[in-house]
Amino acid sequence: MNVEERVELARYTTLGTGGPASVFARPRTIGEVEELLRLAAERGLDVATVGLGSNLLVADRGVDALVLKLDGAVAAVTVDGELLRAGGGAANAVVLHRARDAGLGGFEFACAIPGTIGGGVWMNGGAYGGDFAGVLERVLVATADGSGWLTPSELGLSYRHSELRHGQVVLRAELRLRPRLPEEIKAEVRELNRRRKEAQPTNRRTFGSVFKNPEHELSAGRMLEACGLKGYRSGGAQISPKHANFIENADAATTADALALMAEARRRANEQFGVSLQHEVEFLGTLELPEL
Ligand SMILES: Cc1cc2nc3c(=O)[nH]c(=O)nc-3n(C[C@H](O)[C@H](O)[C@H](O)COP(=O)(O)OP(=O)(O)OC[C@H]3O[C@@H](n4cnc5c(N)ncnc54)[C@H](O)[C@@H]3O)c2cc1C
Repeated sequence: MNVEERVELARYTTLGTGGPASVFARPRTIGEVEELLRLAAERGLDVATVGLGSNLLVADRGVDALVLKLDGAVAAVTVDGELLRAGGGAANAVVLHRARDAGLGGFEFACAIPGTIGGGVWMNGGAYGGDFAGVLERVLVATADGSGWLTPSELGLSYRHSELRHGQVVLRAELRLRPRLPEEIKAEVRELNRRRKEAQPTNRRTFGSVFKNPEHELSAGRMLEACGLKGYRSGGAQISPKHANFIENADAATTADALALMAEARRRANEQFGVSLQHEVEFLGTLELPEL
C-alpha cells in the first residue's frame, strides 16, 4: 500500500485550494483501512478521509493528519437483486451508471452531486427531493476499534448532516433501489442535468453550495444575491455571478480567499436579514469564520 508524506491536497479538491496532508494513503481493502486506523491511533495521529473533495475546504497550511483516499475494493460497486453495494470511495456517477444498467432507479437525484458514496453518507447529500437517507439500507463504518454496520437512524442523518466524525471511515454502503426502465432513468437524469446547468456554474471550479438554506423564505443563494454579492471578489476567489451560493476559483484562489468571501457573506446576511448562515462546505485543517 502506498503511504506518502506531505501530499498536496489542492489536487484532491474541486475548488483546487489547500495545503498538504502530513501523511496520505490510498487503501484498497477493508483490511488496509483497518490497519491504517490502528497505526494512526498508536501514533496519536488524527485521521480524515477525502472523497472527490467536492464539498471540502482545506486549510492553506495543510492538515496534520493521516488523510485517506479509498481505492480498489473499497471503491467498487456490485449489484445483487434490488440491493446495490458500493465502496465508500465509489463515485456517485459510477454508482448511478451501474444502477441504470441493472434497471434500478432511486439514485437519480445524485446525478449532479459530483462526489463519492462516503462523502454522500457523511453529508446526507441530496438534490431534487431525494437524499442518501432515502436509499440507504445500512453502512459499514471503520474506526480504530474495528468495523461495524450502522443503520440510517444510527448515522443520525438529517438535512446535509450525519453524526459521523473524522476517524470514522465509510467503507461500504448498501442502497435499496427499485426496478425502473433504463430509458426512464436516462430521461430523468438528462432533465435534472439540464435544470442544474441552467441555474448553477457547473463549468467552474467550486465546492457546491457554500451555505445551508436557512429557515427563511429566501434560500441562501437568493439572500446573498439580494445582498449584492454576485461577482464579489476576494483575491482569486469570487462569488459566482450565476448563483450567489457558489464560490468560484476564478484565478489561482487560496482557501483564505474563499474564507474571506464566506465571512463577508455571513456578515451581510446577518446585517440585512438577521440570519446566521451555517456553512455546508466541510472544513479540513484549522479554519475558522469570525463570530457574527
Ligand atoms: C458543482 C457541485 C454541485 C453540487 N451539488 C450538490 C447537491 O446538489 N447536493 C449535495 O448534497 N451536494 C452537492 N455538492 C457538494 C458535494 O458534491 C457533496 O456534498 C458530496 O456528497 C461530497 O462528496 P465527496 O466524495 O466529494 O466528499 P468530500 O468533499 O471529499 O468530503 C466531504 C466530507 O465527507 C467526508 N468523507 C468523504 N468520504 C468519506 C468516507 N469514505 N468516510 C468518511 N468520511 C468521508 C470528508 O472527510 C468530508 O468531511 C455539489 C458540489 C459541486 C462541486
